[in-house]
Amino acid sequence: QEKDYQFMLRTRNPGGFIPPQLYRTLDRLADEYGNGTMRVTTRQGFQLHGILKRNLKQTIATIVQSMGSTLGACGDLNRNVMAPPAPYKNRPEYRYAWEYADNLADLLTPQTGSYYEIWLDGEKSISAEEDPAVKAARQRNGNGTLVHSGEEPLYGTHYMPRKFKCCVTVPGDNSVDVYTHDVTLVVMTDAAGELEGFNVFVGGGMGRTHNKEETFARLSDSLGYVDKSDIYDLIKAIVATQRDYGDRVERRHARMKYLLADWGIETFRRHVEQFFGKAIAPARPLPPFQYEDYLGWHEQGDGKWFFGLSVENGRVKDEGDFRLKSALQAIVERYELPMRLTPNHNIILYEVEPAWKADIEQILRDRGVVTDPEAIDPLVRYAMACPALPTCGLAIVESERAIPGILQRIRAMLDKLGLEQEHPVVRMTGCPNGCARPYMAELGFVGSAPGAYQLWLGGTPNQTHLARPYMERLPADCLEEHLEPILGFFARDRRASESFGEFCNRVGFDAIRAFVNSYEPL
Ligand code: SF4
Repeated sequence: QEKDYQFMLRTRNPGGFIPPQLYRTLDRLADEYGNGTMRVTTRQGFQLHGILKRNLKQTIATIVQSMGSTLGACGDLNRNVMAPPAPYKNRPEYRYAWEYADNLADLLTPQTGSYYEIWLDGEKSISAEEDPAVKAARQRNGNGTLVHSGEEPLYGTHYMPRKFKCCVTVPGDNSVDVYTHDVTLVVMTDAAGELEGFNVFVGGGMGRTHNKEETFARLSDSLGYVDKSDIYDLIKAIVATQRDYGDRVERRHARMKYLLADWGIETFRRHVEQFFGKAIAPARPLPPFQYEDYLGWHEQGDGKWFFGLSVENGRVKDEGDFRLKSALQAIVERYELPMRLTPNHNIILYEVEPAWKADIEQILRDRGVVTDPEAIDPLVRYAMACPALPTCGLAIVESERAIPGILQRIRAMLDKLGLEQEHPVVRMTGCPNGCARPYMAELGFVGSAPGAYQLWLGGTPNQTHLARPYMERLPADCLEEHLEPILGFFARDRRASESFGEFCNRVGFDAIRAFVNSYEPL
């Protein structure tokens, strides 16, 4: 008899969009076939855990019939396309970001019918209307080298060398970890708010392997600017470059970031231009990127409101007096609200009439959910953790279940050192794959051995700077011994309004180590 294999299932939701009927379905499936919880991912999808093999078909078919999908949420192809989750109706650049996240997802969706054959007995159930420009772009032959014969006009017979991650954002909005994707588009509009084109970044990525120097986290480079009429051809040219030149021998060296690292941006651009058929224009100026989490109430610009809800570790569950899952179920049932999942595993409810606000807050409070973002310790608010044990087969060590305790201990150290107002960005993962993007954190914990983490320092609060590994194995039991001296140095020598990550970068690791060696605990 076959074992009871169980699976993690991840949804595909460009821009984190979850229509109410899909939410209700996922909520029900989590109880019927999963472990009774849902996990908001750091790429704006949902994960269900513990689905038994015999229930997979029913689960996936039900999701697709509820306007959802799991197609391309995993595998060597384009993954979920990210976009800022803020539903501003009076800021056209946000509308364009959502629109092009959808279009990019459509453009790079595999064309194979197997997905529908396997999970839906061949029925292509409900699918949204596709943008004609996207459809035309997919079918266009370009210069003859872009398009393969066969069923997959873009991916060819072998798909991509490795996973491929895209994101669309607006100038200044770094709710999406803008530099960590294979491709990032930044919407560029004219003074009247009309879309003109996109600045394009390429070659970011987080995943690495311990003790393999040839693998590393990398920030993306600026490729240039492209008019909106050319954007799909440029995307196809980038995909074709990675498809044809990406490493298909050594899987650890297969992400597009290694092509960028090996070639440099100039050579990469030249190859893309050969597929594209013309020169890529220089990038247009951009304002600095700032981190946004959009928690709390905000006017969405058309008389309605949106509400950003902090979800610790992204876990939607009922546990004791904390009944977030029941609360969201009740709200969606009563008000039919759509959601946007955020890249920091939080949830935004939108299209809220002003008269509904008090009731929505009450529903949440009655079920033990904190609604005031100011009442949440910012150390917790800005922290992220991947699921790791027990649901991720790659995990070396705990993450989601460990981080609440780690944050409490960091808070105690900060308070002890007179740093009550400080809240460095903490991110934790159970392995070096880096799903919670720990290499952008001010304090990054990356599982390196049972009970121990590699410690990364030097990311910044707006997530624009890559951290560096400071220590290979920090046993969780010895956190205070190793971290308190570093925080003590920060308390003594920081400059006004300097963040912890900025401080680490300014003074450097040699100075930190020298201070740590001479540190006398308070
Ligand atoms: Fe991702 Fe590794 Fe965490 Fe698993 S343990 S969720 S692969 S970072």
